[in-house]
Amino acid sequence: MPHPSAADLLAWYDRGGRVLPWRADTADPYRVWLSEVMLQQTTVAAVRPRFERFLLRFPDVAALARAPWEEVSEEWAGLGYYARARNLHAAARAVVARGGFPRDLDGLRALPGVGPYTAAAVAAICFGEAVVPLDANVERVVARVFAVEEALPASRPALRDLARRFSRQQAGRERPGDLVQALMDLGATVCTPRRPACAPCPWRGPCEARQQGRQEELPRKAAKAARGALHGVHFLLRDGEGRILLRRRPEGGLLGGMLEIPGTPWRERPWKRAEALAHAPAAGLPWRVLPGEARHGFSHRDLTMRLWVAAVEALPAGAVAMAPEEAGRHLPTAMRRLLALIPPVVTSPHPNTSASPPGTPTRSPPTRNTKPGAPNARPRKSHQGL
Ligand code: SF4
Repeated sequence: MPHPSAADLLAWYDRGGRVLPWRADTADPYRVWLSEVMLQQTTVAAVRPRFERFLLRFPDVAALARAPWEEVSEEWAGLGYYARARNLHAAARAVVARGGFPRDLDGLRALPGVGPYTAAAVAAICFGEAVVPLDANVERVVARVFAVEEALPASRPALRDLARRFSRQQAGRERPGDLVQALMDLGATVCTPRRPACAPCPWRGPCEARQQGRQEELPRKAAKAARGALHGVHFLLRDGEGRILLRRRPEGGLLGGMLEIPGTPWRERPWKRAEALAHAPAAGLPWRVLPGEARHGFSHRDLTMRLWVAAVEALPAGAVAMAPEEAGRHLPTAMRRLLALIPPVVTSPHPNTSASPPGTPTRSPPTRNTKPGAPNARPRKSHQGL
């Protein structure tokens, strides 16, 4: 029986590997690192335009290191998993402080937030180290080619050992970066989770799962633990100019360091009215509950949020405030889901002006309410639809 060979895989990759923007210069660890961080939990189609936009704003690691966190979080808005952006920023500063990227696996692993997968991908693709990062695509290919019966995640050490066989073959030793990208491409385009296209696969001959007709059974996966539920109440406080009050979440935890619509903490039990009101950004206002709920999934939790609204003449001096349309550019996805609960009339500062849909991006920066002597949380006479 033939063995799966790195040479066959690389020949296939040379004929039809994917053209991706981060492959334009695989000698640049900044581009490769950025792409690998963005691609965690996100599809190539979603990452492609965001990767190019991010590079326009932060073209190299020094530019990213120089940028304030507010700019980085703004550029990351909508990509989710915001701890990645915080770590990206911290690691960029560490890279600049040490005078450049580490050039081996251990050095890369020492950077803030760089895990074994990302370190192995950069070490192999940029610096030619003979390591194979295991992502879901590579795990699937290896589990099928060798018909690994053990279920994920317990099978990971065995899959890693099996993947190393390819990097020890001569073709793999000569082209470790291409080998890694070829494995990723095979999993993404041919050896797909459902209905793998075995006919054009370079390993259709030696693949044990195909021989047994069990491609779609593998890899086996252990049953997932039930996802936890979280509940929160957020308070949309709007001033006479149509701007809404925002604040920055504490560092650490879910959406740490990102802007949010002020609200309660997120907890497992739903909030009763009196409990929630204790977290309102202004007391004594006629808070009204908008119909509907906003739902957002984190990696292990499902968050359900309600939105309460009130209006004042002026927001507290120094508060972060912006129009809802503009907030769509600055807020993470979970908060944008809350904005979508606002009836269209609420998004327009003037009743006769047609409102843009929530989340419409604009270029103007966030504003702070600096109106001298602005009263804190004084109710408005007219609520303009709130
Ligand atoms: S032959 Fe089929 S199951 Fe085996 S590696 Fe190729 S695409 Fe995957």
